[in-house]
Amino acid sequence: MKIKVDFHVHTVYSPDSVITFQDLRDGCREKGIDVVAIMDHDVTEGAFELAARSEELLSRGEWAPRVLVGEEVRTTKGEICGLFLSRWVPDHRPPRETMELIKEQGGLVYVPHPFDLLKLKRLKASELIELSGLIDIVEEFNGKPRLPLANTLARRFLERHPLTPAAGSDAHEPTHLGAAFVEMEDFSGPGDLMEKLPGGRISGKMYSPFASAYTRFRIRRKRRAGDAAT
Ligand SMILES: [Zn+2]
Repeated sequence: MKIKVDFHVHTVYSPDSVITFQDLRDGCREKGIDVVAIMDHDVTEGAFELAARSEELLSRGEWAPRVLVGEEVRTTKGEICGLFLSRWVPDHRPPRETMELIKEQGGLVYVPHPFDLLKLKRLKASELIELSGLIDIVEEFNGKPRLPLANTLARRFLERHPLTPAAGSDAHEPTHLGAAFVEMEDFSGPGDLMEKLPGGRISGKMYSPFASAYTRFRIRRKRRAGDAAT
């Protein structure tokens, strides 16, 4: 059976996202996303909680997206994501150490937005090659607007180097869920994912940066007003 996987989503556990569990559930259902990887910034608390809530719903026969526990870890040279984590990965360590901490616990190393040239701290192409023995997946398509060339450069890099590509929306608000995804054969764990991911098909489109910031502002304001009313 083919499923759609959004490999990069932020929830309210990230300071810059407004996506609640309910939003995640509704948004994924609406966009036809079956599996989401939660990649909150430097925390895993939300990912573990939401994975448990989704499992509980699924066990009762109710609809929920399957949740993969991940973390977007800030390192001394940009961000590295861990996937299939069983515990939190500390931030602000060198990239190699971060990758080793992910691998030690049986997780997969996922490099998000590798050619986001606007970021001062990021791994250069030569460093990605140097660390490629520790890298499992590289994000070929990221839905968040960056320099338009970023995704093209990532695709070109992946055409030349034998690393497995994937895609994620990098959604920080509900309407962006599923903006980028991989359609692939269903999988049951990290090993199985790595076997099936190369046969997947990447789809994606970038959303507008301005609409995005404004929508997040509106959602926060509305929720604050709601809190004050209760
Ligand atoms: Zn992100």
